[in-house]
Amino acid sequence: MSKHVTHWIGGGAHEGPARRSGDIYDPSSGRITGTVDFAGPEEVDAAVAVAKAAFPGWRDTSLSRRVQILFRFRELLSAHSDELAALVSSEHGKVFSDAQGEVARGLEVVDFACGIPHLLKGGYSENVSTGVDSYSILQPLGVVGGITPFNFPAMVPMWMFPVAIACGNTFVLKPSEKDPSAGDLLARLWKEAGLPDGVFNVVHGDKVAVDALLEHPDVAAVSFVGSTPIARYIYRTAAEHGKRVQALGGAKNHMVVLPDADLDLAADSAVSAGFGSAGERCMAISAIAVVDSVADDLLDRIKERVARLRVGPGDDDRSEMGPLVTREHRDKVASYLESGVREGATLAVDGRVHPVSGGEADGFWLGPSVLDHVGPQMSCYREEIFGPVLSVVRVGDYDEAVKLINDNPYGNGTAIFTNDGGAARRFQNEIEVGMVGINVPIPVPMAYYSFGGWKQSLFGDSHVHGTEGVHFYTRTKAVTARWADPGRRPEGGVDLGFPTNG
Ligand code: NAD
Repeated sequence: MSKHVTHWIGGGAHEGPARRSGDIYDPSSGRITGTVDFAGPEEVDAAVAVAKAAFPGWRDTSLSRRVQILFRFRELLSAHSDELAALVSSEHGKVFSDAQGEVARGLEVVDFACGIPHLLKGGYSENVSTGVDSYSILQPLGVVGGITPFNFPAMVPMWMFPVAIACGNTFVLKPSEKDPSAGDLLARLWKEAGLPDGVFNVVHGDKVAVDALLEHPDVAAVSFVGSTPIARYIYRTAAEHGKRVQALGGAKNHMVVLPDADLDLAADSAVSAGFGSAGERCMAISAIAVVDSVADDLLDRIKERVARLRVGPGDDDRSEMGPLVTREHRDKVASYLESGVREGATLAVDGRVHPVSGGEADGFWLGPSVLDHVGPQMSCYREEIFGPVLSVVRVGDYDEAVKLINDNPYGNGTAIFTNDGGAARRFQNEIEVGMVGINVPIPVPMAYYSFGGWKQSLFGDSHVHGTEGVHFYTRTKAVTARWADPGRRPEGGVDLGFPTNG
């Protein structure tokens, strides 16, 4: 039976016909499995209006009560995690175990948000002037929008809304139109957890819905995760409309392999970080900067492992890598194999001929590929591919690898493989990238640290979740207070001078 996904506004499914809608696909068969309504300005207005109306009540809900609801949401999410993972896998294409991992990482942010009372403590200074005390308080912003990409339809929204809601904001999520069902299930779980209606809302759609959110006068802040051109647009447009904004963009993550590295560990890591989730992760390794003297050896080990990878449907638990998200995206990723060879690279592994176990012919399949002898001027190196293609760039030494990465416009994640502690320490110090791994290929920070890149991988000042997330979703107020002792007026009388302390 074909499914139909609609908006979630004010604690229930939105009723009424949609003027526009999109198809939802099963990437492993290429078949349409349902439709999703696309919001226009009217639906976005309706969602923002209920979120605005719910804000005063929610911001004044006690911290204890908020935490009780968060704990209940956490328990429900945990109980429904396989259902959520199955939804993600069926629309995104990633294998079920990978989708379970995504849900688990999202849950960690909910765990973090359950500790919100500790994170919302302000400061207090007694007697800053005689009889005068000063303190700071953190207050929520109001209605916050979240716009998220297709590749983590459960985890990336959970980078945002648990913290935003815990801080006392109300939230309007605009998930990717490619895999919208996770957002819908999350909304239902919030309702069951007892979150007041209107605090969490979901509008589906494309640029029309996004623009309506960006321009809406009652939206105080916007969190975005997606590709760099759209992140830049979101940052500029939301800022022009007076909003606080954080916009996380695309990536080109390098793995550096020095001659003293454990090459088996490096090869395992390259294959898992390059081809997990079919390379559709913002922290996927896409370029390997390997020192010449060990490049052939590393490549042989990678090829051996890639040949054994089982590519197949996400719901087959023997599959290690699923299809790509859409036909167009698969074709675009495959086009980099042709352009790479045309521009002088060698196709060491051709994913177009990799066997697919159990998938239907019309699925959006592309096996794992490796391009060798890639140069920084080639389009397969300069552009984000966002698919199962590893590009090997041979470098002369450590310094050349660092220069390559620091010259790259993206700065999301990177990893160095070495047994030399001094080299690793130098690397963490001088590399211009937001998240660094040392013998760890996908260094995604835990929820209590913050996630975010540098350079064109992030527009704005704040990373997501962790304490930076709390700062993003709150603003501080400083209060200066004087209370006279009973029966004693403060000395002084009228004084037009600038207040000084004494
Ligand atoms: P995308 O930029 O195409 O879409 C992201 C969101 O923006 C979606 O909700 C989409 O509906 C909306 N959107 C698309 N085009 C728009 C337009 N012209 N105007 C306004 N809104 C628009 O990204 P995607 O293809 O869904 O996701 C993959 C990208 O996301 C990759 O570039 C990946 O690196 C990036 N990503 C980054 C991070 C990070 O943390 N930096 C995490 C995950 C994904």
